[in-house]
Amino acid sequence: MMKKMGLNEIRKAFQDFYVSKEHYKQKSFSLVPEKDKSLLIINSGMAPLKPYFAGLEKPPAKRMTTCQKCIRTGDIENVGVTTRHGTFFEMLGSFSFGDYFKKESLTWGWEFVTKVLNLPEDKIWVTIFEDDDQAFDIWKNVIGIPEARIVRLGKEDNFWEIGTGPCGPCSELYFDRGEEYSCGHSSCKPGCDCDRYVEFWNHVFTQFNKDENGNYTPLAHPNIDTGMGLERLACIMQGVDSIFDVDTIKFILDGVEEISGVAYGNGKKSTDVSIRLITDHIRSVTFMIGDGIIPSNEGRGYVLRRLLRRAARHGKLLNIKGTFLIDLAKKVIETSKGAYPELEEKRDYILKIIETEEDKFSKTIDQGTEILFKYIDEMKSNNKTVLSGEKVFKLYDTFGFPLELTEEILKESNCSADVESFNEYMLQQKETARTARKNMDTVGWVEDDIKIQIKRQNEFVGYETLEEEATVLHLIVDNEEVDRVATGQTATLLVDKTPFYAESGGQIFDTGVLEVVDSKDGVLAHVLEVKKFKNTFAHTIKVLRGELFVNDKIVLDVNREKRNSIARNHTATHLMHKALKIVLGDHVNQAGSSVTDKGLRFDFNHFEAVTYNELKKIENIVNQEIISFKDVGTKNMTIEDAKKEGATALFGEKYGDEVRVVSIGDFSKELCGGTHVANTGYIGSFKILSESGVSSGIRRIEATTGLNIKENLDECEILLDNISDVLKSNRDTLTTKAENILDENKTLKKELENLRKESLGNSLTDITKDAEEINGVKLITKSFEGLEANDLRDISDQVKKDLSTYVLVLANVKNDKVNFLVSVSEDLLDKDYHAGKMIKEIAKAADGGGGGKADMAQAGAKNPAKVPEAFKVAEELIQNM
Ligand code: ATP
Ligand code: MG
Repeated sequence: MMKKMGLNEIRKAFQDFYVSKEHYKQKSFSLVPEKDKSLLIINSGMAPLKPYFAGLEKPPAKRMTTCQKCIRTGDIENVGVTTRHGTFFEMLGSFSFGDYFKKESLTWGWEFVTKVLNLPEDKIWVTIFEDDDQAFDIWKNVIGIPEARIVRLGKEDNFWEIGTGPCGPCSELYFDRGEEYSCGHSSCKPGCDCDRYVEFWNHVFTQFNKDENGNYTPLAHPNIDTGMGLERLACIMQGVDSIFDVDTIKFILDGVEEISGVAYGNGKKSTDVSIRLITDHIRSVTFMIGDGIIPSNEGRGYVLRRLLRRAARHGKLLNIKGTFLIDLAKKVIETSKGAYPELEEKRDYILKIIETEEDKFSKTIDQGTEILFKYIDEMKSNNKTVLSGEKVFKLYDTFGFPLELTEEILKESNCSADVESFNEYMLQQKETARTARKNMDTVGWVEDDIKIQIKRQNEFVGYETLEEEATVLHLIVDNEEVDRVATGQTATLLVDKTPFYAESGGQIFDTGVLEVVDSKDGVLAHVLEVKKFKNTFAHTIKVLRGELFVNDKIVLDVNREKRNSIARNHTATHLMHKALKIVLGDHVNQAGSSVTDKGLRFDFNHFEAVTYNELKKIENIVNQEIISFKDVGTKNMTIEDAKKEGATALFGEKYGDEVRVVSIGDFSKELCGGTHVANTGYIGSFKILSESGVSSGIRRIEATTGLNIKENLDECEILLDNISDVLKSNRDTLTTKAENILDENKTLKKELENLRKESLGNSLTDITKDAEEINGVKLITKSFEGLEANDLRDISDQVKKDLSTYVLVLANVKNDKVNFLVSVSEDLLDKDYHAGKMIKEIAKAADGGGGGKADMAQAGAKNPAKVPEAFKVAEELIQNM
């Protein structure tokens, strides 16, 4: 009989089984690949183990078992649609690094599923690569599966390879869920896309190396890599329809039902898909944030944002009001914290990030959706179905609508997006950003281009010494290995040991010089940059004198002044991290940092701006620690011990079994590989320079230490002196002086305004003097230049007070345009004089138009040169009355 087992129990059973077969049980790696630039997010149990398989790093044991968190965004279209795909899932794995091979892998696999899990043998089918007779023989003769249930498949299904390198055939285990799940085709068998035969375990036998010419040569030590979807296995074991009905996942799905009030499996396909999709996406979201990924518009952050927003939007489709994702994230944490304690440790942080992001999204989504629906209406009435790239980009750029979301909504109305043109807009935007960044690029070391076999990994001796004798192992120029580097040339240098710190953990690399020992030319080179490459240190050097050869004995000499400044800023960063926790709260955690000789930049999560008072408190605490002369110590210990001692670790950071802990008195304790001062007193002093927001929920503080503060003070001093000079004052009276000047300025402005009004009054007497009598009516015309908008009206009001029986026509020329005002005295209104009608004719003469009431009207016109003509029109109008 098959046992009923919960997902968490199955995980444990699997790992226990492989431990009993002498496998080393390795914790799941972070979803963020550690060094692998070819991969955005870990997507299989094998992915984080690549350096072991490639022989670049030594595995902790030759046999290993893991249960790895995986995310496959490539499966996103399938989520909710098939019964067996999630974007997030866990992969159980067993691995052999050149140890056991096919026979053990398959027989143990069979033993586990039939003896431990008690899956019925006759329901299990297997597939093999068509030419793999070895696997066939093991299945048939060693294990005893009838030939009828062994299916041979071609290369596309059962041969694993990516480009060149290690590759090999694989063999998959399928479970037959019975006729009722079948597509009904006569050809339905394992490999068919329907739900009858579920693939649940893949055994990959990497036994060949493929070269550029397509030749396969057998490996001396073949490897084993197997992967089994935990959710799929649980689905089989629990006899349920889909992975969403598995106990731990159902628990989350129940939450979606509860919050939305929509029943799952009520026969409505669209709401079922939404419910499953939310259930799946919130798992990815929770785990990703737990591994330190933060929503953004790029890379992993964008994947996270897209998943979170997609879930939020499907919540709207289910008519959920308000935000809801954190309640579901709590359920994810609840069911998974046993196996992934980091979820519980980072609970508050995870929830806060989700809350902030969902909140932000829900505000823009309403706006964006409304606009998108308007676009759709427009398209419908124009008989169009493709939304322009410009509009799609606008939705992306202004309303944060991921392309996929726009496409999804469009699809619901049988429309689509012009993706090609959208991508062009995206490219343009990226290009702008890139040019802005370009100046910051330094001499490059493009890791992936280097194809050298490193002789020996180097030893880092830079904690203890700043000067060390070493041997030149490799010299690389333009990605080619060379045996010498001449004066003036730039090259990459690898050595057996180095005191130079390579850029890592936010700390900038050391610079300095190197000299060849006992050379008559006195060979000298600058060390310009140091980067880590597959655990070894790559020095970018420029030879200043003589010629440098492979195997030369050299002395590497670190620039002390710079290194000391870096150390001051790094130790100060630890002090500040702790001070932030004290002042702002324990939720504060590092989200990024950069330590150079000039200063430090520290990003951390906090949900509002840090106030002036808080900043002062932080500054004071740090400075207090500095003047207390606390010793700084480092110690290596196991990660467990470090945690027990309360050392602060970073999110999403992968630590080896042994870690380095930096402690400052009893004030701070942090996992850190950086270089520090020996006593806080060396820091001298600490000053915060700025505080700002980086993205939602992330703040940034920039600060500096040591002599940089003096530099900063000097600059302030110069600034102050300059201002004092300009204001003809000194520091003591500067403030009063500045206040006085502002006051004076205000008074002057007022006086000026009064003067202007007065002079307007004067010109008023002038204009009335010049009045011309026509038909017993006084016509007053006057053109001004550059008056304010209300001035004409003021003049008209004045005239009204002083005169009767007049028509007033004013023009004001400003910015190549002209404004007219016509007003008519009250006693003329009974005689059919109408300012509004008159101004129409008058303004027309200067290419304009306007209108207004009988007593007063205004108009604008384009041609100031024609003002005299306009006045002429006024004359004629009165004559003709
Ligand atoms: P499929 O063809 O069903 O997508 P796959 O060939 O992509 O599977 P592998 O890359 O061999 O799968 O991964 C190993 C195992 O991981 C699979 O046998 C399956 O049990 C599980 N798995 C793969 N993708 C998913 C997914 N999206 N959700 C849940 N489990 C998965
Ligand atoms: Mg797949």
